[in-house]
Amino acid sequence: MSLAYELDLHNKLKDATLAIIEPRLEYKRDKTWSYWKTIDHNFQDCVQKSWNNFSINIPGKTKFLECNGLPYEAIDSGLFYEKINTRLKKNKNISFYKNTNEIDLNSAFIFNSVPLLDSKEDKLWQHFKGIEIETKKNVFDDEIFNLMDFDCDQRDSVHFFYTLPYTKNKALIETTWLSKIKNDSLKDYDEQLKNYIRNHLNIRDYKVTYSEVGAIPLFHPTISNERNKMNIGTAGGMTRLSTGYTFLNIQEHSKYIRKNIHTIKESKRYEINKKYKFLDKIFLKVLNYHPEKMANIFFDMFNNSPETIIKFLSNKSTLLQDLFIILKMPKWLFIKIFFKNDK
Ligand SMILES: Cc1cc2nc3c(=O)[nH]c(=O)nc-3n(C[C@H](O)[C@H](O)[C@H](O)COP(=O)(O)OP(=O)(O)OC[C@H]3O[C@@H](n4cnc5c(N)ncnc54)[C@H](O)[C@@H]3O)c2cc1C
Repeated sequence: MSLAYELDLHNKLKDATLAIIEPRLEYKRDKTWSYWKTIDHNFQDCVQKSWNNFSINIPGKTKFLECNGLPYEAIDSGLFYEKINTRLKKNKNISFYKNTNEIDLNSAFIFNSVPLLDSKEDKLWQHFKGIEIETKKNVFDDEIFNLMDFDCDQRDSVHFFYTLPYTKNKALIETTWLSKIKNDSLKDYDEQLKNYIRNHLNIRDYKVTYSEVGAIPLFHPTISNERNKMNIGTAGGMTRLSTGYTFLNIQEHSKYIRKNIHTIKESKRYEINKKYKFLDKIFLKVLNYHPEKMANIFFDMFNNSPETIIKFLSNKSTLLQDLFIILKMPKWLFIKIFFKNDK
């Protein structure tokens, strides 16, 4: 959808046709896309709320950080779908289909966003459930969001809660796990959220107004190199593996495709900078072997200036900033795990 919008916005679909294959019956709010705003994008008017302050905590310790120049934004997917569909419907060169059988793909160039996930059970995922709650009383400080609260049951995995307060009486609260997906024992999300809201946030009286559930692969799907096909989105390796952040990478990829659309078959394939792929691979290997150390590792990462850490997590860091991040990591552990054969 981001790509179709970007192409249409820049008049690239005046003399070309676009068929969008989408099996879903309707577009309704199903996700909240959040990120630190490190680049401009087309969906500023779909931002539900942005914050200039955030916190991260482990048992007994909390860090408060500012992100004034790089605000954290949350996009309402309902507004995003509506904005895009309203625009795309006006262009006669764009059509919607439910299945590829309905069109002739022979002379088409395909942008594929259906990921091919091989042996997914043994790999790491970020899986979560979020609920938006409304309270009668004003209980939230809507000036600051909580990025990661590790003060919770870890069950030999990596677990944190994430809270986005939209107003003083409305917030999205998510329980998030970094683990292998086959572990069903971690998926009692409703119980986890209920306990957290009651015992940590001390909220008794609330109603649930929306929920979202998801799983982001922390490995890149298999990408086939065909001349008339390009993978995009999660399928195209746009997820930052150490964080699950994907949305802004998709926006950058869409821009790249739009700029190169006339020579797309010959153009170099866009990818997340290799240095992040390399560093994230080691990071996830440490996570795989030592989930019990990760809360402290994430917490210590934030001993850097907010700008350094945000730019690093958003693939926008300089080599010096990368070095600052690396220096905050337990170096011997990382070196040891780097040389360890994969389990
Ligand atoms: C609940 C949730 C919350 C997330 N939150 C964040 C966030 O806060 N920040 C962030 O950066 N990233 C986030 N992500 C990760 C990522 O940004 C999203 O998953 C994003 O939507 C990925 O875009 P995509 O185009 O790859 O996939 P999708 O948005 O899933 O789009 C793929 C489309 O393909 C359709 N489809 C499925 N099967 C077929 C088929 N066989 N044929 C044709 N079409 C098919 C689907 O219906 C869907 O519309 C989140 C992911 C989820 C699931």
